[in-house]
Amino acid sequence: MPDKVLWDSCLNFFKDSLPPQQFNSWIKPLLFEINGDQITLTAPNSFTLKLVQERFLPEIAKRAQPFFSSVPSFEFRIGKKAAVAPSQKAKPVTASVSRHETSPIPKVNKAQNKLNPLLSFENFVTGKANQLAHSAAIQVAEAPGATYNPLFIYGGVGLGKTHLIQAIGNHIRQENAHAKICYVHATNYVSDVVRAFQTKKIDEIKQFYNSLDLLLIDDIQFIADKPATQQEFFYTLNSLTDGHKQVVITCDTFPKEISGMTPRLTSRFSWGLTVAIEPPELEMRVAILLLKASQSNNPVSEDVAFFIAKHVRSNIRELEGALKRVDAYSKFHKRPITVDVAKEALKDLLASQNKQVSVENIQKTVADFYRIKVVDLLSKKRTRLIARPRQIAMCLARELTQLSLPEIGAAFGDRDHTTVMYACKAIESLRNTEPTLNEDFNLLNQILRN
Ligand code: ADP
Ligand code: MG
Repeated sequence: MPDKVLWDSCLNFFKDSLPPQQFNSWIKPLLFEINGDQITLTAPNSFTLKLVQERFLPEIAKRAQPFFSSVPSFEFRIGKKAAVAPSQKAKPVTASVSRHETSPIPKVNKAQNKLNPLLSFENFVTGKANQLAHSAAIQVAEAPGATYNPLFIYGGVGLGKTHLIQAIGNHIRQENAHAKICYVHATNYVSDVVRAFQTKKIDEIKQFYNSLDLLLIDDIQFIADKPATQQEFFYTLNSLTDGHKQVVITCDTFPKEISGMTPRLTSRFSWGLTVAIEPPELEMRVAILLLKASQSNNPVSEDVAFFIAKHVRSNIRELEGALKRVDAYSKFHKRPITVDVAKEALKDLLASQNKQVSVENIQKTVADFYRIKVVDLLSKKRTRLIARPRQIAMCLARELTQLSLPEIGAAFGDRDHTTVMYACKAIESLRNTEPTLNEDFNLLNQILRN
């Protein structure tokens, strides 16, 4: 009996506090049971379970407390008993014949268009930097066509966009072997369309793309400045989303920032959900290194992982590169991986990293980026066009140099240290509310660190 009262109170709470899509995907399918002092939560799959544990458990535990004399323990299960939301059961399947079997034209480079099974959700480490993108991806994978459509994932190089978009494809394929799935890099999409125009086979390509259950298109920025391809893509996007077929797009920037893209397309991108992947924070970098190392036959200790993660900050691809170097070095010299070995293996990399970012370099880079003059950045001008970049530059100086607040103030036209402090606070909070500014900041941060 307390089961129902308690669970109803949780349901009501989450129903009010979460968007309906999230409520339907994450909370509704859960089965809730109480046995003595134990609460059992059953979820339809490991993703939902993990997400519930990470995001909703504290609230559930808080609500449960008054119902128990001692602290209840939680047990988590994956089971079929949990009612699966109808949208998840009804997978859109139109045909079981893959395009490669039906017609030789349009030809597609199979190797490049294949899903790589290693790029799975299981191998994807999450942290603050990619949490949103990850949960959106899972929702889409669990209920394709039913939630965010299109899902638009953007972020800098090597941050996991391709991994995530492929994980969606792999997951859907696992659940439904007949789903018509196409992963395509935008450059290949462009050549598909161009070739189809040349051979007057544009109808076939239209037909192919429009018949998919899932279209994963990677690095969409590559269709910029290609109006005919953009037009084709616009039709395909509309046709698929109208038919509740899922489209997932990745890009290196925020939709509105892609230059050379027709506005009707960029605005169409944001009809679904737009989420960013940001550069990973230290803990996440460590977690990634530990995971990657444990998958190789040369695992590393936490010390070593911390050491590498502290020094390789720009992106995950470089993190992997550094780990490989350490691994190879240790094998070659037949020495176990210690911090000293890592230090030696990464000597060159560390030397170039240690080259400090100077405040002048930051000012110049920020000024160039916003097409203003460095002298203006240092001047007393307070117009927003100048003041905002100035605040960004100060904030970057705080993050990337060893200078103290008064020193940074002095470097920016003799300003007071409180001005610098205020600038950092302002930028920090704007980054949460203005995606474009946040995007600029991350980009500048990456440029300066490289
Ligand atoms: P992008 O497409 O954004 O340039 P990728 O998806 O190719 O980046 O990622 C670069 C490398 O880093 C890949 O080997 C990928 O598997 C790995 N990677 C990226 N993000 C993660 C993550 N969150 N967890 C584990 N590995 C990751
Ligand atoms: Mg990529």
